[in-house]
Amino acid sequence: MAPEDQLLRSGVSRRDFIKTCVAATAVMGLPFGMVARVVEAAQAPDRPPVIWLHFQECTGCSESLLRANHPTPANLLLDMISLDYHETLMAGSGHQAEKSLHDSLQANRGKYLLVVEGAIPTKENGIFCKVGGRTAMESLRSAAEGAAAIICIGTCASFGGIQAAAPNPTGAVGVGEIIKDKPLITIPGCPPSPYNLLSTVLYYLTFKKLPELDQLGRPKFAYGRRIHEHCERRPHFDAGRFAKAYGDATHAEGYCLYKLGCKGPATYANCSVQRFNDVGVWPVAVGHPCIGCTEPEIVFRTAIADKVQIHEPTPFDSYAPVDLKNKGKGPSPLTTGIIGLAAGVALGAGAMMAGRLPDGEQADKPHQEDSHERKE
Ligand code: SF4
Repeated sequence: MAPEDQLLRSGVSRRDFIKTCVAATAVMGLPFGMVARVVEAAQAPDRPPVIWLHFQECTGCSESLLRANHPTPANLLLDMISLDYHETLMAGSGHQAEKSLHDSLQANRGKYLLVVEGAIPTKENGIFCKVGGRTAMESLRSAAEGAAAIICIGTCASFGGIQAAAPNPTGAVGVGEIIKDKPLITIPGCPPSPYNLLSTVLYYLTFKKLPELDQLGRPKFAYGRRIHEHCERRPHFDAGRFAKAYGDATHAEGYCLYKLGCKGPATYANCSVQRFNDVGVWPVAVGHPCIGCTEPEIVFRTAIADKVQIHEPTPFDSYAPVDLKNKGKGPSPLTTGIIGLAAGVALGAGAMMAGRLPDGEQADKPHQEDSHERKE
């Protein structure tokens, strides 16, 4: 049965099927004219076999994909592929499940996609994570041997994640530290957007090749830009309006979260565009700073409240100062802009930045060098 027919039988309308394909096409950065090809690939009767292994993780990546409020991405993905082994979803267990894994690895050698969720412990021969009597290292090596390609879903499988945080007692690493001879895609995030996995698989089915990847193995279509570039709080950042404490007036006003430790200026991901749960939410939208969960050098290495350094020192010095205490009573923006410009000329840019907020905090001025700036 074609995937679309299966979707229709499971209650997903043709309209939702097309909408999901359009969304996945947009995530891939493809023009609208490519939707027909993506739909065709999603409907193809040949379904690639997929083996999905879980190691050191919380299963949040699977949960994010399978969220109950709008099952279309999960349905589409699971109907496009032949999911031969997934410990959370499969009905079988014990010897029956292990036989299913063994049979699928043998029957589909060289053809299956291996999806890995979770980090792999390496200390003491990997005894900290065992499934079916074998360590995660053994299971991974044996499954990777016959895989056509490997997809690391989530930050743990991609880079070790929270398990690899100092002092890393189990020696947890990402898949790429162990498997060096296979095409490997990382889809980091804690959890990643389900659309990034769906779009990666759809790209593979549509073009019969892997998407273009960055130096960390991430599909460029999803991880090619910093979330800071499309954040809805960005106008506040540019205007020098920063939330200063959780729950205070500046936070309630929706000001930029940079001073609360937002890692958005150094984090490459599409969260600010392709949001979660199909209701337009993501952490920054609900008032929590980005923790940089797609960046191995930031997440679980940098305290949430620590500020990342940024390259472009916006706002510009000609921006009008913001005075929350006199909100609505002060001079017009045009007046303050002219005053600010004149004062900027007279006193210099640094003095203006120091006086932007009523308490004159120097911290309003973001750090001017970006130690996390990506080297292309
Ligand atoms: Fe948005 Fe964070 Fe950038 Fe502020 S620093 S504009 S909250 S991504």
